[in-house]
Amino acid sequence: MSDGDDQEDPESDSEWAEFLQGLVEKKIITWIEIVELVCGALNFPQAATSLASKSGGSYFEEYEKGKASQAVMSWINEQKKCCARCNSLKQLEFDHIIPRNLVQFVGNKLRKQHGKKKLNDKTVKDALEAELKKQKISDYSDDLLNKVAEKLKRFLNRRPVMKNEEKMLQYAADLLDNLRILCKRCNAISRPSHIQAGLSQFPTGAECAFILLYHKPKSFKEFVKLGRSRNLTVRSLQRFQEAWFLAKELESRGIYVIQEEE
Ligand SMILES: [Zn+2]
Repeated sequence: MSDGDDQEDPESDSEWAEFLQGLVEKKIITWIEIVELVCGALNFPQAATSLASKSGGSYFEEYEKGKASQAVMSWINEQKKCCARCNSLKQLEFDHIIPRNLVQFVGNKLRKQHGKKKLNDKTVKDALEAELKKQKISDYSDDLLNKVAEKLKRFLNRRPVMKNEEKMLQYAADLLDNLRILCKRCNAISRPSHIQAGLSQFPTGAECAFILLYHKPKSFKEFVKLGRSRNLTVRSLQRFQEAWFLAKELESRGIYVIQEEE
């Protein structure tokens, strides 16, 4: 067991500042590199360019040709330009309120159940609602559900059936009304597959590096133990093994101690 094992995380701003200062002093990072990272994280995400052209242009459907970027820009103008959950300005992302993969899943399920029969609004809406309930997603309005159901219905009722329909159905979730701005962290927490993400201090990658740099586990085994005790959602050991390379590099620079494992 290393001394660092039961050490508490920093709490006050001055303790966090001290931690960063320590990294700079050990030449693990320079102040200008820190500034670059912070500014990069604060840069508002590219919207019109990526959002409107993403997804094979499925946002475009609702707008005249060439008007999608404009629609995206005015949509952003109407939003709070920060995380809708925690107000952070850092690492903002556009997130689908009713997730794409859920819409795709329901679309494919409906196709299997009903074959090529044309579907009505209610059938599609009910199927979406049931799946949302199953996945414990409740932060959407009825108005939004209607809009997404309408678009999914439109996709399913296309004749001839869309090319690559199985995959294309996810784009029925692409409506500006179905988007929100979340910080990377809140976005990770909002995904059902990352249900545990909220329990550790940082997203997995940052948390791994923080454990190494602050708690300084002396062996790989101890590192994994610390990670697990902090509820990191790391499915495979490989993620820890990859993160451990930082410790190895720091050891080779003489600023980290790794003890041989038995
Ligand atoms: Zn947030």
